[in-house]
Amino acid sequence: MDEIVNVAKRRAFIYAGSEIYGGLANAWDYGPYGVLLKNNVKQAWWKDMVMKRSDIVGLDSSILMNPKVWEASGHIKEFTDPLVDCKECKQRFRADQLEADKCPSCGGELTEARQFNLMFKTHAGPVDNEENIVYLRPETAQGIFVDFKNILDTTRVKLPFGVAQIGKSFRNEITPGNFTFRTREFEQFEIEYFVKDALSAKKAFDEWVKVRFEWYKNLGIDPNNLRLREHEKNELAHYAIAATDVEYNFPFGFSELEGIANRGDYDLSQHEKFSGVEMRYFDDETKQKVLPHVVEPSGGVDRAVLAFLVDAYTVERAWGEERTVLKFHPRLAPIKVAIFPLVKKEPLILRAKEIFHGLKEKWFVEYDETGTVGRRYRRQDEIGTPYCITVDFDSLEDNAVTVRDRDTMKQERVPISSLPEFLEKKIGV
Ligand code: ATP
Repeated sequence: MDEIVNVAKRRAFIYAGSEIYGGLANAWDYGPYGVLLKNNVKQAWWKDMVMKRSDIVGLDSSILMNPKVWEASGHIKEFTDPLVDCKECKQRFRADQLEADKCPSCGGELTEARQFNLMFKTHAGPVDNEENIVYLRPETAQGIFVDFKNILDTTRVKLPFGVAQIGKSFRNEITPGNFTFRTREFEQFEIEYFVKDALSAKKAFDEWVKVRFEWYKNLGIDPNNLRLREHEKNELAHYAIAATDVEYNFPFGFSELEGIANRGDYDLSQHEKFSGVEMRYFDDETKQKVLPHVVEPSGGVDRAVLAFLVDAYTVERAWGEERTVLKFHPRLAPIKVAIFPLVKKEPLILRAKEIFHGLKEKWFVEYDETGTVGRRYRRQDEIGTPYCITVDFDSLEDNAVTVRDRDTMKQERVPISSLPEFLEKKIGV
């Protein structure tokens, strides 16, 4: 993990948050390449889960919601972790993560466990009193349930259908850590997939487990580093009928990347009860109203980014030298192509810049003229750029360039005029 944290910082992917002030426990900032990687992960999800399907619509609901939402969802009562304090050194631990009943730090005696709510509380408006309490949402899902009726009334969705949302969530985690794996502010991508009854939910659940597992695989994660873990009955939330996690083999072991849950009709029935607004769907075929059941694939964007980063990280020997490469899937690579003049001389610079400006309209590309071509390749390898293009003196005669592949390091000559087509085939859009 230290190596990952190092390369992430050195290559402008992830910085410690508020670093010049000594940081803030486990807050992280995405740097210039990190933000591109993260955006690509979100875009890949949005394209594959929303754009390419005809049964899913999108939503962007607000982070601050009426506090009744969290009463209805059960978060005010149930969204807690058991907490113990060490009577000696005063450190705080999650009771369910302790292996013994003594303080793991100093061996001191621990207090009785008490429940600690993970929701961040704040006040809306200038008055700091009980009535003005609002919470930062701990999941994006509730925004979807709360807008369920709006979506039914204003679009032409028909069961089964899903609503997808990407956005920030906040949890006052007692033990954040493992780099960006567990933080207090994070981003989620969630789908609530509504179906007509329990039987359809069972079927949809199995399908979603497959779809989500394949998604990570298709974006280049080594299947040996992925596994599914079905929740035991005693692990399930009281309303959940089934849950399976997609786990990734992080440097600290297999851990949850995404959870898929069959939540029955719990959420809509709770909101119906607490809001007094009917959440039913009128089935044209049976002419009956039904309270839909829901299957939820809920993933963490930051955890996905971390998994893609860890999986891409490769140190290998090439021609007697060690090289570090981030072997991202081309769809996820922050920079798709780098363009170099062989030497820092005209007219090579001019020709290289022309190509750079042409490709820049379509992809994130970089121009680099500093140092030897070998060093420029190494730099691009470390940020995971799939293709490097070199303009040399022959290019001025034959109007062709050398394209070097990041993974195979093979070079081929490609006419300048067919570069866009060539790259589109390799990278996609
Ligand atoms: P964990 O058991 O790791 O706390 P969870 O089961 O509480 O996670 P869910 O409530 O199912 O998590 O949230 C869905 C997804 O949101 C998780 O699979 C994870 O990818 C992401 N997520 C949840 N909490 C955090 C966090 N503190 N930091 C980063 N990502 C998170």
